[in-house]
Amino acid sequence: MNRVASHPSPIPTGLRGRCPACGEGHLFRGFLAVRPACEVCGQDFSRFDSADGPAFFVMSITGFVVAGTALWMEFAYEPPIWVHALVAGTLAIGLSLLLVRPLKGLLAAVQFANKAEQGRFRA
Ligand SMILES: [Zn+2]
Repeated sequence: MNRVASHPSPIPTGLRGRCPACGEGHLFRGFLAVRPACEVCGQDFSRFDSADGPAFFVMSITGFVVAGTALWMEFAYEPPIWVHALVAGTLAIGLSLLLVRPLKGLLAAVQFANKAEQGRFRA
């Protein structure tokens, strides 16, 4: 581990949406907007950029669960198509909203812990 001992563990800190440097301040302003800096320790958040990372993981996890549930329902109960649409739609939207914030916080915290930054070419 190359993590500084005074920093909190990135996984629980990120999942809770807390500052990866101190674990106390909030990472988010609103639902998904990242604050410019930590209100407790002043850590600059402007370099954090998870890009499409959270969306990829949300789509992968949600797609697996929704497709698995649809297959299980079809083979077990053979429900009408409107039941499939209702269950899949509710599950897809609900899981996406539930997962996107913790996953964005997790990726920002892991990025901070690993000192990840934009790649540069050397001249
Ligand atoms: Zn902080």
